[in-house]
Amino acid sequence: MNGGTYDCIVIGAGHNGLVCAAYLARAGKSVLVLEAAGQVGGAAVTREFTPGFKVSACAHLLHLMPADIVSELNLAGHGLKLASRGLSTTALRESQSPFTLDAAGLSAVSIRDAAGFQAYTAQMRKFAAVLMSALDAPPPRLGTNELKDKLSLLRLGWKLRKLGRRDMRELLRIGGMNVYDLLEEHFETAELKGALGLDATLGTNYGPRTPGTVLSLLYRMACEGAAHNEITAAQGGMGAVCEALAASARAAGAHIRVNATVSRIVVESDRATGVVLAGDEHIRARTIISSADPKSTLLGLLGTRHLDTGFVRSVRHLRGKGLTAKLHLALKELPAFRGVSTQQLRGRLLIAPSLDHIERAYNHSKYGEYSSEPVLEISVPSIDDATLAPTGSHVLSAIVQYAPYDLKGGWDAARQKFLDIAVRRIETFAPGLSTSVLASELVTPVDIERDFKISGGHWHHAEFAFDQFFMVRPVPGAAQYATPLPGLFLCGAGSHPGGGVTGLPGRNAARRIIGMN
Ligand SMILES: Cc1cc2nc3c(=O)[nH]c(=O)nc-3n(C[C@H](O)[C@H](O)[C@H](O)COP(=O)(O)OP(=O)(O)OC[C@H]3O[C@@H](n4cnc5c(N)ncnc54)[C@H](O)[C@@H]3O)c2cc1C
Repeated sequence: MNGGTYDCIVIGAGHNGLVCAAYLARAGKSVLVLEAAGQVGGAAVTREFTPGFKVSACAHLLHLMPADIVSELNLAGHGLKLASRGLSTTALRESQSPFTLDAAGLSAVSIRDAAGFQAYTAQMRKFAAVLMSALDAPPPRLGTNELKDKLSLLRLGWKLRKLGRRDMRELLRIGGMNVYDLLEEHFETAELKGALGLDATLGTNYGPRTPGTVLSLLYRMACEGAAHNEITAAQGGMGAVCEALAASARAAGAHIRVNATVSRIVVESDRATGVVLAGDEHIRARTIISSADPKSTLLGLLGTRHLDTGFVRSVRHLRGKGLTAKLHLALKELPAFRGVSTQQLRGRLLIAPSLDHIERAYNHSKYGEYSSEPVLEISVPSIDDATLAPTGSHVLSAIVQYAPYDLKGGWDAARQKFLDIAVRRIETFAPGLSTSVLASELVTPVDIERDFKISGGHWHHAEFAFDQFFMVRPVPGAAQYATPLPGLFLCGAGSHPGGGVTGLPGRNAARRIIGMN
C-alpha cells in the first residue's frame, strides 16, 4: 500500500519528535509524524490510571524546556496553560520540621548553609550557562577541518575563557567530580545535601558518589536556567504540553498520525527512503528522523545489515537500563505531611535524608534489587489542577528510585511489594496516608519500555554519562543527529544533549537538517 511522499517523516510523537516536526514544518518542509500510541506525548503524557484520576505517566514537572522554544512554538497560543508556577522544593525530615530550599527556609536550619546556598547556586548557575551553550546546538564533529566545527569548539572555549581564571579553574576542577564530594565541601545540613544530591541523580544510573554526577546536576541546572529557573506544572498534566506542541506543528503544516507503528525503515540504494507501517503501508520521504531510542531505531527499525560492524557494536554497548519508577496514588482527600504548609505541598517534596542514604538506596540496584528505603520526588498536582481528580479527591505523583530494569526475579513478582514499600516510606512523613488510598499504580522501567517503546525504560533513552555525552552521544558516528545511513537522523532523548522535557534534541536535529539543505 502506498501512503504518499513527504520531505520528512518523524518517527514518534514524544515531545522531541513534535518539536522537531514543528521546526521542520515552519522551515517549509512537508512533514508527517507517525506515532505508535493512540495519543501524542511519549513519556510526557497524561493518563487516566484509575477511573476519574489522571496523572502525568512519567515526566510530571515542566522546568527544563527553554523559554525560547515555548515562545517560538507559541505553546500558550496553542492551548498550553500552567496550573502552577514558581513551585518550591521542600526537603522532608524524619524528626524535625521540613524546610524549603530558599534563603528563608534554610536560615531556619543553618545560617551557614543559608549564606552558602546563595553563593553555591550563583556559581553553579554561571557554570551551567557555559554548558548551555554546548547543549543548544549540534555538537561539533571531531577531527574535521570544517569551519563550522572549529567555530563551534571556539565558541565553547570562549564561553569558558570568559568565566575568568578563578571560575574556569573551579569548573574544570569540579566538572568530572561526584556530587557527594562537591556538596560535602559546601554544606553541613544532611537533608540539604540529600536534596541537591537527589537532583543530580534523578533519572540516572548513579548514586551521589558516582563520578559524573556534577555534570548531570549542571545539565539539569543549564536547562532550568534556559527555562528561567522556574518549576511549573501544566494544566491537564504533561500531556497538555505535547498537545500544544502537536497543535503548533499542525498549524505549521505538519501531519500527525497516531496508532501508526513504524515496523521498519526502508533502504534503497544505500539511503533511507521511507518507512513501512505495521499493516504494510509504505510511505516515502527524503529524510527520516527517529525520536525512538537509538537501539530501537538502529538495531530494530533499520537493522544491522545496513550498518558496519564497529558501529553496530557501539550501539549494542550503549548503556540505557532505567532505574526510575513512578508511583501514582488516587487519594480520598488531601494528604497531610507533618509540618508541611499548603504552600509547600503545592511544590516538590523530596525524601532524600542524606547523601549516604541515597548512596545506600542506590547500592541495592547494583545487585538487581530495589531499594528498601527508596528516595522520592513527590508532587500533588491536583491541588492546583481540578482536571486531574474528582472534587475533594487528589492524585499523588512520585518519582521513586531505585527500581532497576533488571530486577532479580522480575517485576511481576515484586511490583506490589515495592509499591507498598514506597507508600510506607511516604507515610513516615504523611501519617495515615495509606487509609486515604483509593487506587495505586507503580510504573517500573519494564512498564516504561513496554508502554512507551523505550528499550531499557531509561529516562534519557541512553545513560547520561561522560562516555555518552556531547560529541559521542549516543555513539560516535551518530552524534550530530545524522546516522551513518544517508537520509536517517535521530532526534530523541538518546541524542545530544539528553533527556528531560527540554525539546533540545528535537530542535537541534531540525536545525541540523534545515542547515544541510
Ligand atoms: C519516571 C520518569 C519520570 C520523569 N520525570 C520527568 C520530569 O518530571 N520532568 C522532565 O523534564 N523529564 C522527566 N522525565 C524524562 C522525560 O520524560 C523524557 O526524557 C522525555 O519524555 C523523552 O522524550 P522524547 O520525545 O525524546 O522520547 P519519548 O517520550 O520516549 O517519545 C518517543 C516516541 O516514539 C514513539 N515510538 C517509538 N517507536 C516507535 C515506532 N516504531 N513507531 C512509531 N512510534 C514509535 C513512542 O511511542 C513515543 O511516543 C522522566 C522520565 C521518567 C521515565
